[in-house]
Amino acid sequence: MTETLKIAVQKSGRLYEGSMKLLKECGIEVSNGNNQLRVKAANFPAEIFFLRDDDIPEYVQDGVADIGFVGENVVREKNKDTEVHEKLGFGKCRLSIAIPKNAGVQKPAELEGKRIATSYPVILRQYLEKNNIRASIHEISGSVEIAPRIGLADAICDLVSSGSTLFTNELKELETILQSEAVLISNQLLQAEKKAILDSLLFRIRSVKKARNNKYVLLNAPNEKLEEICRLLPGMRSPTVLPLAEPGWSSVHSVISESDFWNIIEKLKNAGAQGILIIPIEKMIV
Ligand code: ATP
Ligand code: ZN
Repeated sequence: MTETLKIAVQKSGRLYEGSMKLLKECGIEVSNGNNQLRVKAANFPAEIFFLRDDDIPEYVQDGVADIGFVGENVVREKNKDTEVHEKLGFGKCRLSIAIPKNAGVQKPAELEGKRIATSYPVILRQYLEKNNIRASIHEISGSVEIAPRIGLADAICDLVSSGSTLFTNELKELETILQSEAVLISNQLLQAEKKAILDSLLFRIRSVKKARNNKYVLLNAPNEKLEEICRLLPGMRSPTVLPLAEPGWSSVHSVISESDFWNIIEKLKNAGAQGILIIPIEKMIV
């Protein structure tokens, strides 16, 4: 292939590590040693552009970059003409309205007539209009959480992950208006060759994501318990069963999802499984 896919990622900040890790797990080698603006991948037809996250939707819309890794919150706020392809599983947070702990407000409707400080005026305005709340929006670009204390606003609308920033500023969440994580966006009019590179990248990303959500299980089982144990293990098709050197025992191999993990392990133990090993999966192609 002669084309390269131009990928925009955040230059530094909360999405940087996750973006670079994902590229690495997709087998794409990028060395960003010298704090450069753009770097060619060593072994994949891609070039990585390091940018401010707020600029990524516009650069992708305009074709300066072909695709970008950026928070859904920024995609929604900037409202540019791009296509969202895939959630990437990192950068998880929520956009919430918060009020001072001792404020009398109990529910969003009581924000009527109040002042709300935010860096997300577009998303907040949509929320307020949809819910018929007339409040005034004060757009500020950083340190939104101090606005109530300095008398600039009665409430804020800001990104939250653990809630510790709210806590230290004596604020409490009133309402979540958007759940967000990093997503892959692309330009609407990618040429065929670039589209093919994107498809191959998406294939790799999906394999990495599936692997992250699944674990490989190995266990020993007495033969008379095999049936019961295999019923607990769906696997990609069905579990692999191999005889052990010790008569009457077998080794069972399968794949289970992270979310079922503790539940299934308990049941396997109760059913007589022994020597259970759980192994991370690097890639999973289905
Ligand atoms: P830049 O210099 O690139 O503009 P920034 O200061 O705007 O950086 P960061 O604070 O690094 O941005 O956040 C980037 C993205 O990380 C956010 O837009 C959001 O999608 C995600 N994120 C995840 N958790 C949080 C959080 N607790 N607070 C803020 N952003 C978060
Ligand atoms: Zn930013």
